[in-house]
Amino acid sequence: MARYTGPVCKLCRREGSKLFLKGDRCMSEGCPFNKNVTPIAPGQHGASRKKRTEYGIQLREKQKTKRIYGLLESQFRSYYDKASNMRGVTGENMLILIERRLDNVVYRMGIATSRAQARQLIAHGHICVNGKKVDVPSFLVKENDIVSVRTSKQEKSFFKDLKTMKASNLPKWLTFDPVTLTGKVEKLPVREDIDVEISEHLIVELYSK
Ligand code: SF4
Repeated sequence: MARYTGPVCKLCRREGSKLFLKGDRCMSEGCPFNKNVTPIAPGQHGASRKKRTEYGIQLREKQKTKRIYGLLESQFRSYYDKASNMRGVTGENMLILIERRLDNVVYRMGIATSRAQARQLIAHGHICVNGKKVDVPSFLVKENDIVSVRTSKQEKSFFKDLKTMKASNLPKWLTFDPVTLTGKVEKLPVREDIDVEISEHLIVELYSK
């Protein structure tokens, strides 16, 4: 299935929660979700949806998570398969794997204002891991990895502006220095470090049927 390219604010309305897909706009008063807090799905039948079935609830949780991280079904399913073969709680392992994606890390460090923008920066060859260019958004970071903006790209106005910004809202497992545009994976994340409102057990229940 192809990646969704329609108006992303519609997806927040569909899921009944803010998915933070539009960078700075999501934090501003211009976010349409703030003006319409009633979780009604778009489309003429949205307001009259019947009570959700257990399957429907599980499905929505999966769709919401895929949308937050910008993943295709096949990618998402592969994280579940990998997580179910790991020790520990499958749902937590799945989220931790997804959180370790380079596009998410670039977003979390504040280099990009959304995961979609982070994917673009990576695909265009602007990002290095341990000094080497990595242009694969799904690359999984490891503990002690150094993530940076390529030196040859740092003079671009987009990155110059970043240098004057203060690092904020960094999760505990990451550090980032805006002056050098370099960050570090101090440790791998645990579930408590992941501040997205996801009930991952619902997704596990869905896939394990
Ligand atoms: Fe969702 Fe962001 Fe659009 Fe608000 S601005 S509706 S949070 S994508």
